[in-house]
Amino acid sequence: MKPLPAPDVPGKAARQEEAFQEEVAMDILTPAARSIRMGLIRSRDTSTEVAVRRLVHAMGYRYRLYGKDLPGRPDLVFKARRKVIFVHGCFWHLHRNCWNCRPPKSRRDYWKPKLERNAMRDKQVRQQLRRIGWRSLVVWECELKNRERLSRKISKFL
Ligand SMILES: [Zn+2]
Repeated sequence: MKPLPAPDVPGKAARQEEAFQEEVAMDILTPAARSIRMGLIRSRDTSTEVAVRRLVHAMGYRYRLYGKDLPGRPDLVFKARRKVIFVHGCFWHLHRNCWNCRPPKSRRDYWKPKLERNAMRDKQVRQQLRRIGWRSLVVWECELKNRERLSRKISKFL
């Protein structure tokens, strides 16, 4: 069964907006308070991440979570290989050409710059990692729909 496009579901859009407002509020917090708040946000939206973790684990790979000393705090860290995986929600991280990431029609002007800023930050983080000798892979939320293909992508990368 095909899930509904996320941004068009009113409840979900409201939650996303709430999360965004939280992100704006975070810009004015102290680093310590921000780190606590980040932890809360992380713990709230992890279903995609958990599914990817389980898949990678079942494939026989071992990893650490949230490389705190690496740019962007990657979701899965393969230290000996110097490789990391980011698990990205299609909407928040602006997955190009993905039906999952269309911003809500009604407030496109509002959403577009925020989401583009997220995507820009992701790109910078990956460049920073490359500069210090780490390779990174992005796993998109929508890729979980075809686990076999995703497994192949992950094993090829690792
Ligand atoms: Zn996607």
